[in-house]
Amino acid sequence: MIRFECVSKSYGGSVVIDNLTVTIRQNQTTALIGPSGSGKSTLLELIIGLEPPDKGAILIDAEPLTSRSAFRLRRRMGYVIQDGGLFPHLNARQNIDLMAKEVGWPLKRRRERVDELCALTRFPPSALDRFPMELSGGQRQRVSLMRALMLDPDILLLDEPLGALDPMIRAELQGELKSIFRDLTKTVVLVTHDLGEAAFFGDAIVLLHEGRIVQQGQFRDLVERPGEPFVARFVHAQLSRLAAMNDQALVAQARQG
Ligand code: ADP
Ligand code: MG
Repeated sequence: MIRFECVSKSYGGSVVIDNLTVTIRQNQTTALIGPSGSGKSTLLELIIGLEPPDKGAILIDAEPLTSRSAFRLRRRMGYVIQDGGLFPHLNARQNIDLMAKEVGWPLKRRRERVDELCALTRFPPSALDRFPMELSGGQRQRVSLMRALMLDPDILLLDEPLGALDPMIRAELQGELKSIFRDLTKTVVLVTHDLGEAAFFGDAIVLLHEGRIVQQGQFRDLVERPGEPFVARFVHAQLSRLAAMNDQALVAQARQG
């Protein structure tokens, strides 16, 4: 569905994506994980054609992504930008509605689609006239997701969609998001820096480091068969963090009980 062939991208002389080849399979969730600065967001920007690669080819359903095809191909993609990217001066409905209005959907169709999406994401319709500032973090994420889904794209790109949420809300939204992905059968690329989240969502996990893919496969492969020392270090650091979080949860439980 999405293929990168020897793709490179540099900014100001520093290589951000380094001769990268990968295939992202259709109707699966691919979790893209890696430390901060490893090129995850840049990879999504390349897929959606916001930035052209310096070298190599990007294919969407075997069709090369070029400056000519980018506009049309982009219509097939929904994109949740890191930190949500909602327009602060537009209310929730206007944010969700923006693209559909742009492409000329009549009001009735737009209203029906927004109703559908509110039901899907369990967003209260009575809050549609609120501005992003007036919504909770979890609600803002739902609005970002609805905006990305408005035109019913076959590809959904999510850049750390749960990154800014507190742990309770995050766990709740993780579960909901996973059931939404299951119902929709879309090609999903979800960026995260959290291995637990990657394992939870990803049919496949792609681990990025300094613009290169250091390993791809299942969670088990990364844990049991790290392909290079970096993978083992990354997995170890993440698992220690998970263990620490688990300990905290147990301590909290013990205090309550
Ligand atoms: P990640 O999402 O994994 O944290 P990014 O893709 O955002 O990483 O960034 C990778 C590297 O590329 C960083 O060092 C970042 O500073 C640099 N970078 C990303 N976008 C730009 C840009 N538009 N201009 C200059 N440097 C950029
Ligand atoms: Mg990023």
